[in-house]
Amino acid sequence: MKSTHSDPEPFQYDAEVEPGEKRHLRYEVGETYLGDSVEIPITIINGKFDGKTAFFSAGIHGDELNGVKVVQEIADRYSPQNLHGTLVCLHVCNIPAYEAQQRYTPIYDQDMNRAFPGNARSNTTERMAHQIYRRFIAQCDLGIDFHTSTRNRTTIYHARADLTNPGVKRLARAFATNVVLYGEGDNGALRSVATADGIPTITVEMGRAHRFQPVLIEKALEGVESVLAEYEFLPEEPVRWPGWYKTTAADSTKRWLRADTGGLVEMKWGPYPLVHEDEAICTITNHFKTEEHVITAPFDGLIVGALENPVAAPGHPLCHIVRLDRETLTEIEREIRQGEFDGYRAHGDVWADE
Ligand SMILES: [Zn+2]
Repeated sequence: MKSTHSDPEPFQYDAEVEPGEKRHLRYEVGETYLGDSVEIPITIINGKFDGKTAFFSAGIHGDELNGVKVVQEIADRYSPQNLHGTLVCLHVCNIPAYEAQQRYTPIYDQDMNRAFPGNARSNTTERMAHQIYRRFIAQCDLGIDFHTSTRNRTTIYHARADLTNPGVKRLARAFATNVVLYGEGDNGALRSVATADGIPTITVEMGRAHRFQPVLIEKALEGVESVLAEYEFLPEEPVRWPGWYKTTAADSTKRWLRADTGGLVEMKWGPYPLVHEDEAICTITNHFKTEEHVITAPFDGLIVGALENPVAAPGHPLCHIVRLDRETLTEIEREIRQGEFDGYRAHGDVWADE
């Protein structure tokens, strides 16, 4: 129920969470082969005061763990006593994939992030998606879905958002990542479906699968805090705006560089994710080291994603690069001089070349 009243109301799923209450619960979304229930962990924090309802979701892909930690922290740190509105924390959405520590639902390789809003009569993943969407997401006013890169790749910390939608734009600005890649998103992705349903939603991409990366987790929690301020869940808190801000969509400004030859890949860029036109990004050598291909930057750009597995065949993606205009380039260079990017390195392995 979208909040239109001045008095806070219970959050309803099959039961109720009263205003002023925080409840950790497990919600059944399916059954195992043994007939045991598959339950997702959810925390509902229903504020003492009226306000909006926001969801925070993680583990739609089972091996993407940074977001799981972010959601755990959100669930722990906010109290209903001073909260205006309701926070719905979906700790892990795809339990079978999470238990197997893999991206997709096991055996059938179903992608939950193509399965929304789900279907009660379809396959396992669509049924789980249906329960999650109908009981929890559909009741929200906005949301953030946390992801990481898929295995063997990494990604710069950024948001994905449909910036043509004013509600989504407001949310993306308040979350305050420096880079936003924009577009509608894929069919069946939680953010596309929820946004089309009138629930502005962004995806946050943060680093690597299979690990916790504290610097990124902390940044995401600051972003959440800023969103809670912007939407007056915490009216006393300040909204945080990014120091610089780069959005990109068209293929002319964003490109995956791919290998044209097979061989061993060595990344040459770094330590910062900034490359200038014609600088070497990586080399590919044959196993005898008698041939070397140098892959150079097609333009001044920011590396937002990169291969980690150091072997490549023709067609393999090597890195994802976003073209920078002069103004953004100058700002990033200034931030690098000021040490803004050093924290990534100090805490290790956010970028692909380590
Ligand atoms: Zn993902």
